[in-house]
Amino acid sequence: MGSVALDSIKTPSGERKNILGGSATYLSLAASYFSPVNLVSIVGSDFPDSYLGLFRKKNIDLKGLTISKESKTFKWQGYYEGDLNEASTLKTEVNVLANFKPEIPQEYRDCDYLFLANIDPEIQMEVLRQVKKTKFVVCDTMNYWIDKKIESFKKVLVRVDALIVNENELKQFSGESNLLQGAKKVMEFGPWLLVVKRGDSGAMMFTSRSLFSIPAYPLEKVVDPTGAGDSFGGGFIGYVCQQDSTEERILRKAMVYGSAIAAFDVGAFGTECLENLKFKEIERRYRVFEQLTKF
Ligand code: AMP
Repeated sequence: MGSVALDSIKTPSGERKNILGGSATYLSLAASYFSPVNLVSIVGSDFPDSYLGLFRKKNIDLKGLTISKESKTFKWQGYYEGDLNEASTLKTEVNVLANFKPEIPQEYRDCDYLFLANIDPEIQMEVLRQVKKTKFVVCDTMNYWIDKKIESFKKVLVRVDALIVNENELKQFSGESNLLQGAKKVMEFGPWLLVVKRGDSGAMMFTSRSLFSIPAYPLEKVVDPTGAGDSFGGGFIGYVCQQDSTEERILRKAMVYGSAIAAFDVGAFGTECLENLKFKEIERRYRVFEQLTKF
């Protein structure tokens, strides 16, 4: 569950207007390489049919996707400069997300693996109220919600197993500049697992007993970083769901699959690279990670 959007993006490699985006979009596309996906979100009547066709082609179930006649699709406009690790938001048109009250289809409610992608924490909470049985719930957020809705976000944190955030969001939420101290503080709010995404510096995973760290996949060129974090999340939960296990060794592999797929995402604008991947290409990058970290 998360946003499905029309994004307008500018990076040093070029510019695109109103292309398919949104946290739940990247998450679903990435996860679909590992597991069946049920998408919960909302779009407006302006949402192109071809994008619905793409979800269907990837076997992403759309019973939980509301198409509203009353308003337009959520729109996000952003740009990247310098090291491309952080997006700057130019404009957000909330549109259909303003009054989104997700109605989780009955057949989705017994849901073993749930990812609450970046969206208003009050909407994340509403989903948690409706699902009955879960094995593993992960949530993500962004600086905007930490700034505007910190109390609602803390209530979500109490209810989830894992939090996946980027380094700056961790620092902002915890008020700590040291990652280990920040991680400790965040985990006191509830999650037993924390993943910190660090852009081209890789990712770290914390539990109360362990610490795991991997580099980013080495790339000479990043075209558009939009969705890298969500693609990571999709690969991560997709693999955990496929293995039906949250054992440490599975979580570590999930970190690698998440990083491998995020590295494909950034190779072109929007979802282009995630649309036509072959699983053996993901496996090839997984093996590069093995070589990179063996000593
Ligand atoms: P990422 O680059 O993985 O952090 O996520 C990028 C996606 O987040 C874009 O496709 C946007 O459409 C989406 N997004 C940006 N702002 C928001 C917001 N306030 N709520 C939900 N989704 C958002």
